[in-house]
Amino acid sequence: MRAAPALGTDNASARFGPGCGSIPNPVQPAVFLDRDNTLIANDGDLGDPNQVRLMDGVAEGLKRLHDAGYRLIVVTNQGGVARGKYTEDDVDAVHQKIAALVDEAVGRDGLIDRFYYCPYHPQATVAEYRRDHPWRKPHPGMLLQAARDLRIDLAQSWLIGDQDRDVQAGRAAGCRAVLITSDEDSSEHGGATEIAESLHDAVDVILNAPPVRSGHHPRSSNDGEDDTMSMSTASHSPRDAPGDALRQMRQSMQELAEEIRLERMQRGEFTPLTMIAVMFQLLALLLALLGLLQLGQTGAFLHWMVGAGLIQMLVITLLLFESRR
Ligand SMILES: [Mg+2]
Repeated sequence: MRAAPALGTDNASARFGPGCGSIPNPVQPAVFLDRDNTLIANDGDLGDPNQVRLMDGVAEGLKRLHDAGYRLIVVTNQGGVARGKYTEDDVDAVHQKIAALVDEAVGRDGLIDRFYYCPYHPQATVAEYRRDHPWRKPHPGMLLQAARDLRIDLAQSWLIGDQDRDVQAGRAAGCRAVLITSDEDSSEHGGATEIAESLHDAVDVILNAPPVRSGHHPRSSNDGEDDTMSMSTASHSPRDAPGDALRQMRQSMQELAEEIRLERMQRGEFTPLTMIAVMFQLLALLLALLGLLQLGQTGAFLHWMVGAGLIQMLVITLLLFESRR
């Protein structure tokens, strides 16, 4: 499928959750690409495919990454949909145009593997898009979903973007990241592993970086379409095995922690049970305060404090029950 526009809907986000968190046998690395001002110039709300212009060196840089064995996956926040500036169909049209321009420039089809976009925004003017969402960068949801869809090895993958939130999403997914910026003070971009002035330079950084130690490496462009076959021939010494196991265990734990965090976000931090517990907690504090006001009258003081203690126990019971649901 050529540069398939990704789902940015509740249907897609519903695929998050326990049971679908792990990435089965990741076999291929990817470079996740921010869209606006990384691939195309866009400081506004671009919904017209006729306005799409690739930035200098983008097509050539993407071809170098592809030839080095990386899958190319665009991950982009599209809050303009939430603000009613354009529609999801417009986003798809823009992505088709980007894919076509890249393919035309390099003389081959399907260089970009997929586009993922998030149309949600917490302050949306369009009600149906008004929410935070695990796919919205700096959350790593789009990268995690792509990893599941395409069996991406996140530890071997990179993100290129021009905003700190891009870098944060990449790092949260377990990737290395290159921030495109003219600001060379890397101390201001603590999440980025590398800084580059352009996509061309970012590609140089990636292709010259030492590989992360594991049994998986970018496939050669001559390896054909069978990624599994190409990865099975990668060198893997017994000396690497303990380090690999620890690294994979750490990545799995990071992915699990991130899944739990995203799941909580989707369900909402304040469930009805939590709200009830909060109200009882306030009541317990009120009773305790009333008890303290009658400190000189032992009987009344004990009366109020026992009440406060009983309600406090109820609060603890409610919170324990909620945490184990
Ligand atoms: Mg950008």
